[in-house]
Amino acid sequence: MKKIVIAIDGYSACGKSSTAKQVASRLGYTFIDSGAMYRAVTLYLLNENVNLENINQVEDHLDQIEITFEDTSILLNGKNVDTEIRTKAVNENVSAVSAISAVRRKMVAQQQTIGKNKGVVMDGRDIGTIVFPNAELKVFMIAEMGIRAKRRRKELLEKGIDEPLESITRNLQERDEVDSTRIDSPLVKAEDAIEIDTTNITLEEQIVQIEELAKEKINEN
Ligand code: C5P
Repeated sequence: MKKIVIAIDGYSACGKSSTAKQVASRLGYTFIDSGAMYRAVTLYLLNENVNLENINQVEDHLDQIEITFEDTSILLNGKNVDTEIRTKAVNENVSAVSAISAVRRKMVAQQQTIGKNKGVVMDGRDIGTIVFPNAELKVFMIAEMGIRAKRRRKELLEKGIDEPLESITRNLQERDEVDSTRIDSPLVKAEDAIEIDTTNITLEEQIVQIEELAKEKINEN
């Protein structure tokens, strides 16, 4: 059966990764959380005490960063960083790091290589616009801020991170703002993306909706 590329973009904490992961598993596709890649770069730079405002310093470190995936886990230079990339420090700096063009070039090249044989579900901010502008299925997820923050808090608690709701809300608002207004690859809905508002639907409903859309596309391709 012909394979397609599924691009899922949208604001932070709208359920993109959880949905994408399940859709990929049900279709037998590869799941890539592109946000995790930007988070891993940010973690590396923070650990190395790189001044994130000094673009040259950031660029000088990029060659030392190798990001790989093992099942759905992310490895930074061979080490599993699934938990470390979700800390407050990374949350607070990832949007600034992601706005740096050299960082984006490196990540986008790797993402395009991963998706070149199709059969991939990738979620992020610029997947349908920049990474895979020809993706057969593009979804843009939105949800009300209150519900996004509550869902994110629950997710973090499950990972053992107890962050107050107000601080989560502030961070989501800040990241939305930086991600949508940056010059390189801002977060925008692709013209041909299908919008899904996840405020009042369950995760299972989100998964089924996208799975159905994907099956339609697979059958018409
Ligand atoms: O998806 P997640 O919220 O984990 O992404 C973390 C950050 O990574 C985003 O706020 C954004 O700054 C950046 N990002 C990006 N482009 C992507 C995916 C994520 O700039 N494709």
